Amino acid sequence: LLLAYDPARRLARLQVNLSKSLVGVRLMYELLDDHPALVDADGAAELAVPKGKVVIEEVRFSYGEPSVLSGLSMVAEAGKTTALVGASGAGKSTVFALLERFYDVDRGSITIDGQNIRDVTVESLRRNIAVVTQDTFLFDVSIRDNIALGRPEATFDEIRQAAIDANADDFIMEMPGGYDAPAGEGGGRLSGGQRQRIAIARAMLRNAPILLLDEATSALDAESEAKVQSALKRLMEGRTTLVIAHRLSTVRDADMIQVFDRGRVIENGTHQSLFQQDGVYRRLCELQFQESRKPDTEQSAAE
Ligand code: ADP
Ligand code: MG
Repeated sequence: LLLAYDPARRLARLQVNLSKSLVGVRLMYELLDDHPALVDADGAAELAVPKGKVVIEEVRFSYGEPSVLSGLSMVAEAGKTTALVGASGAGKSTVFALLERFYDVDRGSITIDGQNIRDVTVESLRRNIAVVTQDTFLFDVSIRDNIALGRPEATFDEIRQAAIDANADDFIMEMPGGYDAPAGEGGGRLSGGQRQRIAIARAMLRNAPILLLDEATSALDAESEAKVQSALKRLMEGRTTLVIAHRLSTVRDADMIQVFDRGRVIENGTHQSLFQQDGVYRRLCELQFQESRKPDTEQSAAE
């Protein structure tokens, strides 16, 4: 029996107030399912993730004409943090899109614990992956329902625990109405750091073994930054994390760094070993991560 990947059903369980403007409702559907689900293969199995090892082998991919990934190979070890670095346009976000199967690879393969993601149901694949990106969207429903998007059947106690773990409970409780307070259009009633912590709470609630993290580029104030960083640290614990890294502290702490250049990985290793090589990574550090090497403020706030 094939189960369809059905965001509408997930939404229904949220008991979202559907008398919202039609535009708002449509926006929710589009954001939850803006890429049409690929059709599951005949007899597609449920993805099983006992460990969480991700292997990408010789992947080629293009959105249309020019090739975006050209023979990309990399491994993300189970339970470890793998940082993806490289110039803008090198293909890092595309790897995330392929892992979630918004698109299928043209050549090569992506496996999770030995299962080709093409051979498993899209629903089981996405259930095992949590995503936190810099532009996580909040809906104009309650804070509680925004967090519940991570797992619509969660109880309130579970939602609250996720918020506590995400360093979000304090500011939520200070809002009039607490967890029932509306987040505002696009989360507009919250600061950038607060929105990020709601996104982290969502991922906590989802409790998936694989985490895709696209680090924010814009700096938050020091206090908010520290709270976001400590919540992320907690979220990453014990999960296979792939992080598109924009901060030097993140790549320094990563177990493995994959250096992207025009659609492939050209170097990998730890920060120390790569920095000694005097190659592309070192140049990236000197250019891209410069701002975080300035005063110690950002570093100490993060640690
Ligand atoms: P990075 O995350 O490393 O900056 P991306 O994976 O976002 O790189 O982009 C790689 C290339 O693919 C870029 O040239 C980008 O313009 C292109 N690209 C990304 N997403 C799409 C898309 N949805 N449709 C067409 N081209 C895209
Ligand atoms: Mg990107």
